[in-house]
Order: sequence, then structure tokens, then C-alpha cells
Amino acid sequence: MFDRILIANRGEIALRVIRACREMGIESVAVHSTADADAMHVRMADEAICIGPAAGTESYLNMASIIAACEVTGAQAIHPGYGFLSENANFVQIVEDHHLTFIGPTAEHIRVMGDKITAKDTMKALGVPCVPGSDGGVPDVESALKIGEEFGYPVIIKATAGGGGKGMKVAHNANEMKSAFQTARAEGKANFGNDEVYIEKYLTTPRHIEIQVFGDGKGKAVHLGERDCSLQRRHQKVFEEAPGPSISPEERAKIGKVCADAVAQINYIGAGTIEFLYENGEFYFIEMNTRLQVEHPVTEAIFGVDLVREQIRVASGMDMSFGQDDLEINGHAIEVRINAERLPNFAPCPGKITAYHAPGGLGVRMDSALYNGYSIPPFYDSLIGKLIVHGRDRNEALARLNRALGELIVDGIDTTVPLFHALLAENDVLSGDYNIHWLERWLETNL
Ligand code: ADP
Repeated sequence: MFDRILIANRGEIALRVIRACREMGIESVAVHSTADADAMHVRMADEAICIGPAAGTESYLNMASIIAACEVTGAQAIHPGYGFLSENANFVQIVEDHHLTFIGPTAEHIRVMGDKITAKDTMKALGVPCVPGSDGGVPDVESALKIGEEFGYPVIIKATAGGGGKGMKVAHNANEMKSAFQTARAEGKANFGNDEVYIEKYLTTPRHIEIQVFGDGKGKAVHLGERDCSLQRRHQKVFEEAPGPSISPEERAKIGKVCADAVAQINYIGAGTIEFLYENGEFYFIEMNTRLQVEHPVTEAIFGVDLVREQIRVASGMDMSFGQDDLEINGHAIEVRINAERLPNFAPCPGKITAYHAPGGLGVRMDSALYNGYSIPPFYDSLIGKLIVHGRDRNEALARLNRALGELIVDGIDTTVPLFHALLAENDVLSGDYNIHWLERWLETNL
């Protein structure tokens, strides 16, 4: 087992990894930008080292500085968290070239799954059901129009390198195709340096259902059920739950096995998420994330496992601490993402926290790097906390969420907390009756 792990991230996820390290008796090294000198992850780690100026590109994305920080501090492994370098195959290669361990999948798996076209081809070959659409990349508008004819409108044009909801455009008819195609291309080029696009049938009433998988890198893999992340704004998740209110135990076992078998076949190592759209009882693969997800705590809550601990174990060469038969669902969990944003436009709202109080009590987990007097810097993601609640069933989890939101105090800035209070008054949310378009429509008329 490692003696020291460096965490190449910041915020709540850096704390999450430090906590797992501490429970395992492993020393943690935090890295930080000059803007984060006072951040909680810096205070909480066993050692901290400044790796560059405020801009993410010069600090948390600065591979040379991070490798140097490992050498200076004697860290043997790097946990990337999510975002930043977590899905950067070149970084994994560089880490390995320096005889360090990347706590995550291989560069090869990250590369294959990071390109949505090769990811889809690979999954199809492994027997995973996919959204109907073009066979690989679509070179020009003429070919795009033919595909629109063939599959029928609406269709969605997606950048193969896309992520975070960027590089996706819907065309509802042939007239919209040209501009949708060109916009998706341009966004792919501008945001990801790759203008290749592909086309899928645009599903009109699906839920977003994702399967958590975990592999030991030696051909053994398990699934940890699904998360329903259908409440989204601009293709970004805001409220996640497990198990999915619409998924039966039989469906879970079936799609879970397809996913676990697929990742076992490729000797996948560590945590991964296979994302699907789910409509009329059918699953359609959209992409795989080769990292820990923001919403992993809802899965941890219902299975009672520590996914970060498992990631560290398998990265060090140990076996997973559980097999499929050990995994049993217990109750229901919900996570809400609390962002430093001002409603109704969700404008980023960094600034000084004048008072902070985290909710507590039975079944409540608050993952956040906030503290009284902390100043949220304007340079990074607006996620400032994740409130996760666990109950014996969905209704208990909802009541607990309502209660915990009421206890939470974040003064000095605006947050998305009022959105969740409002959502908890909606019958569709209370009954779990929504699809990926529900929240956008609700926001149009309610905020
Ligand atoms: P990203 O990598 O940017 O997160 P995804 O491929 O995971 O992109 O898609 C994000 C979201 O976009 C999905 O959760 C869903 O809401 C929507 N989406 C993606 N593909 C389709 C599709 N074929 N039909 C309808 N909605 C889609």
C-alpha cells in the first residue's frame, strides 16, 4: 500500500480523498494555486504545496508542476478527483513514465472512452445497447441531412470530444440541420480542439440512468446499480438519486450485468460510470466516464461502501474488498448540488462566506470545503457543496432532504439552495415522475 498520495484537485473532492487516505493510514499531499492558499483542502492535508497561479491551466492542469510536487513530497500515487486531469490520457502516460501510480484507469481506456465515437463502437462490440445513429463520424452537412432522413427528426449532433454539456445541438427538422451541424462542430473545435461530430436520434422523453461499475484490472468487475440524474439544467445534473425510482430490480440486474461484463472483458481498473438514456423500458448507451463522479456518494450511501478507498486499493494492486454477491441495496439516497450561483440566471456568485453551518443528524452527509470566513475564488467551478441524504425509502430521503436544507446556512453569497426548496414542493419531484427535459421546462415558468 502507498505511504503518501498526492491529490491533484481542490474543493470538496480533494477533502473526500484526504478523508479516505486518513482512514487508511495513508498520508495526503494537497496541491494548490496561489488563489487557494487558504482553502480547506490545504489545511486538512498532511502536507501542501503551491503549484502555480490562480488560473487552472497554470496550476491544477499544470502537469509538470504536479509531477514535480510528487517528487518534492515523496508521494507515490496521484488521485485526480473529477474534472481537471482526471480524464487526460496524456497525463496518465506522464505519471507512469515517472514511475508514479495514477489512481484511475489506464491511459488506453481513458483514450477510448474519451472519444464518444470510439466509446460507442467499443460498447456496441461488448454487447451494450446504444442510441441509434450514424456509424461513426459525419463529415459534412449533406451526409448529416441523409442521416436525418434515415433516422427521422429530431436528431442530436454531438462533438465526439464533447463534455460538460458542450458541443451538442438538436435539429428538429432538415432546415435546422445546417446551423446545428456547424455549431456543434465549432463548439467541438473551440472547447476540445476536435471538430469531429456524430449524430444520434434525439430521444424526447428519456430519463438519465447511469450504472456505477468497478473493476480490479484483472478481469473481475462488479456493478453498483444505477443513479437517476434526470433533473438537469443545460445537460448538467443538479439532483441525483439512487436507486432510480423507475428501475425494477430485474432491469437493474440485467443492465448491471451487461455493464459489469463489458468492463470485465476489457480489464477495466477502478471506478467508472456507464451512462444511458432510458425510455420505454429500453437502455441506450450515451457515454462512459472513466473516473469518480460528482454524484458517487448516493451509491456509497445505499451500498455502504467507500468508492475512493476501493480506488486506492486496486491502484495499489490489492483486490476489491467486495464481490457482486456482497452488494445489496439498503434504502434510498438523494444528492443535491449546491452551487455559488444567483437565481434565476444561475450567474456565478463567488465571494466571502460570512456564516456557514452544515446540516447534520441521521442520514445526512455534507461534502463541502466551505468554512466561516472563507472567500470563494472566482476562478473555478461554482460547486461549493453536495448535500447527500439517506433514508429507508424515497419518501424518508425526501423528508430528510427538506429538513437538512432547512438547517443549512450559507450567508454572504447566493446559492442554488432556494431551487431545491422549490423543487421539493413539486408533485412530479415528490413522485419521481420526470425526464431529462422536466427541469428546463419548469425553470422557464417558475423562476
Ligand atoms: P456530456 O459528455 O457533455 O455530459 P452526454 O453525452 O453525457 O454529454 O449527454 C449529456 C446529456 O445530454 C444527457 O444526460 C441528456 O440529457 C442529453 N442527451 C445526450 N444525448 C442525447 C440523445 N441522443 N437524446 C436526447 N438527449 C440526449
